[in-house]
Amino acid sequence: MSNQTVDNHSPRDSGERPLTSEEIRLASEELRGKEPWEVLQWGAERFGKSMVLACSFGYEDVALVHMLHRVAPETDIFYLDTDLLFPETYETRDRLAKALDKSFIRVRPEYSLEEQARLWGGELWKRDPNACCGIRKVSPLRRFLKDYSAWCTGIRREQSPTRAHTEVVEWDHQFGLLKLNPLAYWSTGEVRAYIREHGIPYNPMHDRHYPSIGCVPCTRQVRPGEDARAGRWSGMAKTECGLHPSGEF
Ligand code: SF4
Repeated sequence: MSNQTVDNHSPRDSGERPLTSEEIRLASEELRGKEPWEVLQWGAERFGKSMVLACSFGYEDVALVHMLHRVAPETDIFYLDTDLLFPETYETRDRLAKALDKSFIRVRPEYSLEEQARLWGGELWKRDPNACCGIRKVSPLRRFLKDYSAWCTGIRREQSPTRAHTEVVEWDHQFGLLKLNPLAYWSTGEVRAYIREHGIPYNPMHDRHYPSIGCVPCTRQVRPGEDARAGRWSGMAKTECGLHPSGEF
């Protein structure tokens, strides 16, 4: 089942006390040299069902879904469905769900596109993309993550200057929980090699010069020499959705 909604999700309590800043720093140092699946395993052993993986069905995330499936298959995995994703993204979700026999929790905005247009005007992404991302991504994520103690993401240092200081373990000040970035130090080549080696379904748009894939209105192909996220909010003074303040989804 790949269409489970956030409404079906029940709050969880890990029973763990929060890590201190010193413990977070030490954990990050210790895990920096480990393989990404070892980082996921560490998180799963420590947080159990109160850890969750974010998945946008891009390269990094399908690799992490596969790794998590190997080391802690019971861990929740969610995606933010803005109602504006590419058809290829939904197809990738369905192929991955079938290949790994996984279900993904579908996290949705409070407002439909029609309601958003009525309240804020049509095509809000053109006039105020920060407000649009706030409604369709940040608010739903905030509501969803309040039931967890740790979340895992696929962000990598190499993706953009705004992500160049990403650590493997961080405290997420915005959402108030621990954040694991198991691929922080991996290169694009390492992610691709892992996907190839394991035959993992991935979004075919990656083979058409879309290294980073978000919503249809805010994603374009990248040109030679541009960084991997140059195709997101092209022409606007915006580089991140607001999910990863140092850096996004
Ligand atoms: S990426 Fe664009 S369409 Fe999607 S939520 Fe953000 S502004 Fe809106």
